[in-house]
Amino acid sequence: MRRITAAVGAAVAVMATVAVITAPESSAAPASAAPPAVSATAVASETDGLYPWLALAYDLALTEAQGQGVPLWIVSGYRTRAEQEALWEDGIRTYGSADAARRWVLPPDESTHVTGQAIDVGPQQGAAWLEAEGNRWGLCRMYDNEWWHFELATLPGFACPARRPDASSR
Ligand SMILES: [Zn+2]
Repeated sequence: MRRITAAVGAAVAVMATVAVITAPESSAAPASAAPPAVSATAVASETDGLYPWLALAYDLALTEAQGQGVPLWIVSGYRTRAEQEALWEDGIRTYGSADAARRWVLPPDESTHVTGQAIDVGPQQGAAWLEAEGNRWGLCRMYDNEWWHFELATLPGFACPARRPDASSR
């Protein structure tokens, strides 16, 4: 986590520069930039509670995806501890043990969703696009078994770290 935090810190300067450069374009028409089915309110609330640089990276990626006609949205971003605890307990019931559940869901103390440092995206087409293009904004798919889970894990424009098999090997 410390290594990632350091990378994020270094990414701040780069991303801030990117934001300044792209600000006139992205702030000119926030509502019309979204596809008709998605309201500006829904787009804004998707990133609520996220670590600011993750929210910024995602917003920049989303603008690019929309420009290319690629569907992309956040299925689950920031979660409260209570929400994560409920998911964790569900996971233990579903998979039969804490060890088995950890491959798919982590307890509140360990989940990067609770710290606002992770997003689960959809649909699969958008996730595949983000897997291929996301490193332009520092966004990386983290696990072999979760095509939907992304974090800010590299500097913009640099390669993503090797994926882990699943969340239990974090
Ligand atoms: Zn996730």
